[in-house]
Amino acid sequence: TVNHKTDAQIAQESIMQPIANIAGKLGLKHEQLEPYGHYKAKINPADAFRLPQKAGHLILVTAINPTPAGEGKTTVTIGLADALNHIGKQAVVALREPSLGPVFGIKGGAAGGGYAQVLPMEDINLHFTGDFHAIGAANNLLAAMLDNHIYQGNALGIDPKRILWRRAIDMNDRQLRNIVSGMGKPTDGVLRPDGFDITVASEVMAVFCLANDLTDLKTRLGNILIAYTKDGRPIYARDLNAHGAMAALLKDAIKPNLVQTIAGTPAFVHGGPFANIAHGCNSVLATRVARHLADYTVTEAGFGADLGAEKFCDIKCRLSGIRPDAAVLVATVRALKYNGGVAREDLGQENLDALQRGLPNLLRHISNLKNVFGLPVVVALNRFVSDTEAELALIQAACAEHGVDVSLTEVWGKGGAGGADLAHKVLAAIDKQPNNFAYAYEVSNSIKDKIRTIAQRIYGAADVDFSREALAEIAALEKSGQDKLPICMAKTQYSFSDDAKLLGCPSGFNITVRNLTLSAGAGFIVAICGAIMKMPSLPKVPSAEKIDVDENGNIVGLF
Ligand code: ADP
Ligand code: MG
Repeated sequence: TVNHKTDAQIAQESIMQPIANIAGKLGLKHEQLEPYGHYKAKINPADAFRLPQKAGHLILVTAINPTPAGEGKTTVTIGLADALNHIGKQAVVALREPSLGPVFGIKGGAAGGGYAQVLPMEDINLHFTGDFHAIGAANNLLAAMLDNHIYQGNALGIDPKRILWRRAIDMNDRQLRNIVSGMGKPTDGVLRPDGFDITVASEVMAVFCLANDLTDLKTRLGNILIAYTKDGRPIYARDLNAHGAMAALLKDAIKPNLVQTIAGTPAFVHGGPFANIAHGCNSVLATRVARHLADYTVTEAGFGADLGAEKFCDIKCRLSGIRPDAAVLVATVRALKYNGGVAREDLGQENLDALQRGLPNLLRHISNLKNVFGLPVVVALNRFVSDTEAELALIQAACAEHGVDVSLTEVWGKGGAGGADLAHKVLAAIDKQPNNFAYAYEVSNSIKDKIRTIAQRIYGAADVDFSREALAEIAALEKSGQDKLPICMAKTQYSFSDDAKLLGCPSGFNITVRNLTLSAGAGFIVAICGAIMKMPSLPKVPSAEKIDVDENGNIVGLF
């Protein structure tokens, strides 16, 4: 039951079905597919929506506050969809696309793990169907048009010192964080400070993931705030007439990608916004297509439930009208010990005291999902080889004591069969637990009210401090009538608070909002609590050093 193979070995030993077979499971005919090779295809949403509508239950997979290694949300998401099929239901999975940054950096891929993976994992982790490059190109077209406008006489009066729009590339490259552009001769452009963000942090990515169709995409792209004039007027992408061409670059990317899990479950892998300055889940279009074609869609939200599930409900669901049917909360022994104060290198040893200290973290997340968002909840205890029987029993007993369904989940080691119990419990939760889905706050409230509500109801904070800058930014948003939008909280994923070291289930703390930025295209206000890195960097020994390709084109060294 225990596998010692790497994720890449398991993936490469799996036999994939032609993508038309996978699409056939969803009722899609060959002519309704846009194949990218033998094992990947894009689906035109219009083709999907013409087919009869399925039950469309939506299961959100989220997690407790994680360790830096991740707790297996993607793995459990894939495994649960496989498990639902295993017990005779029709289920699909909907996930984010991985970014090249983490693939070559430290974290590694994002295609699941063990026997719960999406395939072909090499392709999905490296370029896939090119969506991220298209998004980067759309981002950079806007940047080029902005600088060209200034160079060509600057009819709009854009202030080169008040440009908000940055360039984008899908790579961890600290060298590009802060640059000077437009150097050289007078004909070489306008000299100005500039910089790059990783593509997944581009607002084009957030817009892409929230758009309902091409027309909506174009409107949202046009609404992106890119600069101010010398007299303080906002300049939007539409002022440069950039949105049409940007949407043109995205016309194929916007179609959801279909692949398969190791078990042959259809998997939509589409879009991948950051989970801090953006909302951190796959595209609305992929989720809608998946729900239309399947009885059960299992999807993942990035980071812990304080950020991921909150934004999934308050941003993605609110802006798209999608309603989840249940939440699965992934917990691990090691993350609970980490929340109980155990150092990362000691997580492999049994420590019941630390586990007990970490448990309140799990309980607060459960309570938030049930009582704030009104969702049926099942805890998926993602089993690791190092977990001891006593540790697993302690968590199961604590859940039982609090009346929460918990399932020991072994999809990493056993695939769908290792999640059959979880699948049954999720189905029972959808049937028997009440669903009173609600947002955590009303968008019509003031910005300060909305942030305070999130901090107090979800994080357990006493109050919120706003920096002087933040107060000025709030006043400006109120003055321009742009304050009635959902809030996208950008804070550490390791703590309920804005202090990464305040683990467990803290209370009585204040969080500090340092800045607010408007993502007018995406349609939310970002509240920044702490240093947020929009261009990550490579570690001393990047994973890229281990990745190689043989003479037959086989990728090696990918985790
Ligand atoms: P998340 O989505 O929460 O970031 P992932 O599902 O990507 O987490 O998993 C992170 C890493 O942990 C992956 O390399 C995966 O293979 C590994 N992993 C997940 N679950 C298990 C498990 N039960 N045992 C061992 N490794 C696991
Ligand atoms: Mg993940």
